[in-house]
Amino acid sequence: MAFEHFLREIGEFLKKDQIIIDRDNLSHFSYDATERHSMPQAAVLPEDTEQVSRIMQCCSRYKVALTPQGGKTGLSGGAVPVAGGVALSFSRMNRILEIDETNMFAVVQPGVISHDLQKALDERGLFFPPDPSSTVDSTLGGNVAENAGYTRAVKYGVTRDYVCGIEAVLPSGDIITLGGKTLKNVAGYDLISLITGSEGTLAIITKITLRILAKPRVRRTIVAYLDDLGSAADLIVAVFKSGIMPCAVELMDTITINTVANHVNIPLNRDSVAMVLIELDGYNEKGVHDEAREMYSLCKTSPGTFDVRLATDTAEADKLWLARREVLPSLKALGKDHLEADVAVPRYKLPFLVRFVRGLKHSDTLQIATYGHAGDGNLHITILYRRRNFAELDEAYRLLEMIYQETIEMGGTLTGEHGVGLTVMDYLPMQLTGETLPLMKKIKDAFDPEGLLNPGKIFRGPAGTKPRQRGR
Ligand SMILES: Cc1cc2nc3c(=O)[nH]c(=O)nc-3n(C[C@H](O)[C@H](O)[C@H](O)COP(=O)(O)OP(=O)(O)OC[C@H]3O[C@@H](n4cnc5c(N)ncnc54)[C@H](O)[C@@H]3O)c2cc1C
Repeated sequence: MAFEHFLREIGEFLKKDQIIIDRDNLSHFSYDATERHSMPQAAVLPEDTEQVSRIMQCCSRYKVALTPQGGKTGLSGGAVPVAGGVALSFSRMNRILEIDETNMFAVVQPGVISHDLQKALDERGLFFPPDPSSTVDSTLGGNVAENAGYTRAVKYGVTRDYVCGIEAVLPSGDIITLGGKTLKNVAGYDLISLITGSEGTLAIITKITLRILAKPRVRRTIVAYLDDLGSAADLIVAVFKSGIMPCAVELMDTITINTVANHVNIPLNRDSVAMVLIELDGYNEKGVHDEAREMYSLCKTSPGTFDVRLATDTAEADKLWLARREVLPSLKALGKDHLEADVAVPRYKLPFLVRFVRGLKHSDTLQIATYGHAGDGNLHITILYRRRNFAELDEAYRLLEMIYQETIEMGGTLTGEHGVGLTVMDYLPMQLTGETLPLMKKIKDAFDPEGLLNPGKIFRGPAGTKPRQRGR
């Protein structure tokens, strides 16, 4: 009944086509890229901050849960409306409000697709470094809410390093404005950093001011193929000791190399056990070329390397990076279910982690694919099991827990970039011990005393908010 009143009230200030309640269209708002799903009671498509504020006020009045949704490419289930209620989609708040070339800032609405901003900046010789592999679907609001990483984070830093201003709606419906176009700001607590990466659990982001850079003029890509995954991890550690700062260092194992090569028909060396993809960029052509040659020699002489290529032109480099971007879609196309550990360890621990994963004993029918932003010490260890095979699912969970345990012992984190959401929630106490997690919960309660904003994420919610999971 309360929900009927809620719908009637938001209907007073929203157009009919901004409120979706029929089940066929609603299912579009029930899932994200984890393929976990839970039906909301309504999806609402605001067109400005004022509407977001009024919707949230109504949620607050009628105790309706609200889940913000961007491009729904999240890999931890953050956008899945597990408590029902309202899915708040930003598909109509998708305007680039300003590109300020004098001060080097972009101001955007949260629903802007990552790639659209990149394109607009590229036309002006500018760029916004944080660009996750999901760039054609993910939104800036989602990227900020997840503090997304990307291949070039090793040199340029993660999304949080670029957010200078946020306008947000609190669970009370109040609108707050934080920061702006200044590079420095130490007035009070750093709420911008707190909201960035808060996975839509503290506030709804309605406007973002982002630092932008001049686009590097030159880039060179090197690919090294190795006969052992541990040697590849050793090479990555050596790359950073060389004194040359690459902008990306990615790792793919034999399963991912072959899966991608089959899926997108890109010529990769299928006989290799590991592939390391390195990119250098900069503004000085000669400097970048010299460093690329030095890096090439380093790869060539590194133990376990049997094939190295320095991409001759942009087309060849683009193909290699396309191969990296296509890893997840290619693995998904295998038609199996999977669990993914998005773990990050101190970089020097990387060789130990990959050797640990290689040493895990498991049934022949299970596969463990390892790839990721190895330069950041961030790997996506993906356990593939046969669809709806519960014995294998149980085994996959056992392996996942062992990987998590090892990561913690190495001083690492259970999630490097995909967030806690639903998938890491139950394991979080392994990492956040003592008073840390209770302190975080107090922060959540201070922002959202009624627990209406994205409930059931990060912290286990009330009974009934556990999502249905594929295969279970
Ligand atoms: C093929 C593929 C490649 C990927 N590559 C990367 C990668 O390289 N790096 C990386 O970090 N991630 C990657 N991801 C994961 C995902 O793309 C990122 O987490 C991305 O930032 C999510 O953006 P989104 O717009 O899809 O957000 P959604 O999935 O819609 O939402 C993510 C979270 O943000 C919240 N949210 C969304 N909008 C707002 C808002 N306006 N205010 C408050 N909260 C909000 C949601 O409630 C949810 O908790 C990849 C995913 C896929 C499928």
